[in-house]
Amino acid sequence: MTQEWDAGRLDSDLEGVAFDTLAVRAGQHRTPEGEHSDPLFFTSSYVFRTAADAAARFAGEVPGNVYSRYTNPTVRAFEERIAALESAEQAVATSTGMAAILSTVMALCSAGDHVLVSQSVFGSTISLFEKYFKRFGVQVDYVPLADLSAWEQAIKANTKLLFVESPSNPLAELVDIAALAEVAHAKGAMLVVDNCFSTPALQQPLKLGADIVVHSATKFIDGQGRCMGGVVAGRSEQMKEVVGFLRTAGPSLSPFNAWIFLKGLETLSLRMRAHCANAQALAEWLEQQDGIEKVHYAGLESHPQHELAKRQMTGFGAVVSFEVKDGKAGAWRFIDATRLISITANLGDSKTTITHPGTTSHGRLSPQEREAAGIRDSLIRVAVGLEDVADLKADLARGLAAL
Ligand SMILES: *Cc1c(COP(=O)(O)O)cnc(C)c1O
Repeated sequence: MTQEWDAGRLDSDLEGVAFDTLAVRAGQHRTPEGEHSDPLFFTSSYVFRTAADAAARFAGEVPGNVYSRYTNPTVRAFEERIAALESAEQAVATSTGMAAILSTVMALCSAGDHVLVSQSVFGSTISLFEKYFKRFGVQVDYVPLADLSAWEQAIKANTKLLFVESPSNPLAELVDIAALAEVAHAKGAMLVVDNCFSTPALQQPLKLGADIVVHSATKFIDGQGRCMGGVVAGRSEQMKEVVGFLRTAGPSLSPFNAWIFLKGLETLSLRMRAHCANAQALAEWLEQQDGIEKVHYAGLESHPQHELAKRQMTGFGAVVSFEVKDGKAGAWRFIDATRLISITANLGDSKTTITHPGTTSHGRLSPQEREAAGIRDSLIRVAVGLEDVADLKADLARGLAAL
């Protein structure tokens, strides 16, 4: 026999609970089967009791699922949990992080609108703006992330969106999100923050005044490098537009991936604390080593924006980058000498990864563009995982010895 559950029970129990409780429990709607873990609804469509019921659901007069490109109960659970964690009125899931960015801009911008993007965003994000949105008449300008007066000067009457990643990749530069939100709002523009590097466990941009948060769930939300996904979170007014685009254009999230992400979110806080502790220990250790010329990590007192990082983040993240002596040759020798750490450009995984940004993620930029972005040939990026920190140090020591 199945039991009927009071549909409101799970939600009403979560009034006023803390972040870690929301990460484990928010968004679950228990079915009459009484399952404890989240159910996985692997179905593309839904049946109706009568023709009239079908008509009412299609017309939106009665709530309920119609087709999984529009809504799916497992995807909805993930969306509701993210909305709770980001303090958003609504969240909507996408097939990848890039689909989250695509859907946000497609939903909110039109030809003739102007967008400001921070210089140091994810490579595919730049390509999306440069190669595609520009083709459809969206004007795009780039601004150095940390320079508030440069943002103020660049903003125009037709500026619709400001788009930033903070901390930036790979140099861990920050922008004061609250101050930038004020700059945007003074001109009637919206601030969009790609919060992929921090996750809501370390930084909640909407609480700081941002209007929209986008994520690649592929990274820390999954946390174990298994599958792709993304999410957009914000106020219902804007999310309505994003949902409309997604339903029509179709980059919706697979329910299977949503289920993986629900499991990932249950351990998000624990994992981020461990990622940050490992990253902090390695950053401090690297700063002491001969052959290391500079370490970029917001958790270091030597970081120029360390005070801002302490104010707007509750942890400094898992990405540590550093410059070694002997330029590109030194960096490549360092990377090739590691044995445990994986040579890959991915991040947000329990396994630590190492990469040479100048010839991978930023390899398509011209030498001048790389110089302007501060990506030196001597730069190495490590996305710190969850292995024992002594083993990670020992592996990086192999790299140092090869310098
Ligand atoms: C990976 C990444 C993306 C793109 O996400 P995908 O899931 O790979 O599409 C966007 N922004 C940042 C900061 C990323 O690291």
